[in-house]
Amino acid sequence: MAGLHKHTIHKEHGHNGWNNAFKPALTIAPGESVDFETRDASGGQINVNSTAADVPKIDLTMVNPVTGPVYIDGAEPGDALKVTLLGFQPSGWGWTANIPGFGLLADQFPDPALHVWKYAPDGKTPAMFGPGGKVPIRPFTGTIGVAPAEPGLHSIIPPRRVGGNMDVRDISEGTELFLPIEVKGALFSVGDTHAAQGDGEVCGTAIESPIGVSLKFDLIKGANLKFPTYRTAGSVSKHIDGKGYEVTTGIGPDLMQGARAALSGMIELLAKKHGFKPVEAYMLCSVCADLKISSIVDVPNWVVSCYFPRQVLE
Ligand SMILES: [Zn+2]
Repeated sequence: MAGLHKHTIHKEHGHNGWNNAFKPALTIAPGESVDFETRDASGGQINVNSTAADVPKIDLTMVNPVTGPVYIDGAEPGDALKVTLLGFQPSGWGWTANIPGFGLLADQFPDPALHVWKYAPDGKTPAMFGPGGKVPIRPFTGTIGVAPAEPGLHSIIPPRRVGGNMDVRDISEGTELFLPIEVKGALFSVGDTHAAQGDGEVCGTAIESPIGVSLKFDLIKGANLKFPTYRTAGSVSKHIDGKGYEVTTGIGPDLMQGARAALSGMIELLAKKHGFKPVEAYMLCSVCADLKISSIVDVPNWVVSCYFPRQVLE
């Protein structure tokens, strides 16, 4: 919108973990927008020249740095912060790793692995992976949230009621996100930008990529949200579903085990039919396959499906 005050926050203005005592990097009025620079999820520990040998050396206290916090004038506990994702400025590089001890099948994939991606920043060409994998680019913010009311420093890894490391791949361009505010000024921060990810982020990493993001902020007074909600701008799968899906399932009384079984089935299928090494198939699923709860009512067993988009392979 013309005439609106526009701000920029550089990536040096960031923090590790959440703490409502962090000093704001910027103060804005509701209705204003901000361009954020971000750092990759390793905080610069992985770069284009890194190899799998660098993965176990990652200092986990430095992961998921976020840019901020931004103080929104007039924000009070009980209000909601409406964040509109205006646009992204992708860097053209990223990484996906299997980090030992992390991920849905950590017990089956104990060895470190790393793939460094180069992709077209305009998002028009898919990023290449392994034998013939073509992954469409769709940037989003992995970590986006406001400070929790509870004092002290809180790990960045778990998402919370105030948002944070939600890794929801549909919090992308055009989406409107509504976050419950717990402290005065809201104290908003963003980071952990991803160039692409499937629902589930199964191996624990997406295409981790430094990506600039433009956001607009509004306040909804007295919204009293229980948890974050969001509204997407349109179709969430048009970029990837044109050729349908290969689908595997896991069936049983435990959703976590069902998800693990559905994913294991897909890794086996990709290895057998398409020549991927199991760890490559695992990482490829993390960046483009979707886990879904297909049914959760037919006692005592639930069905979890793993959807792999066929256009990635064709
Ligand atoms: Zn990430």
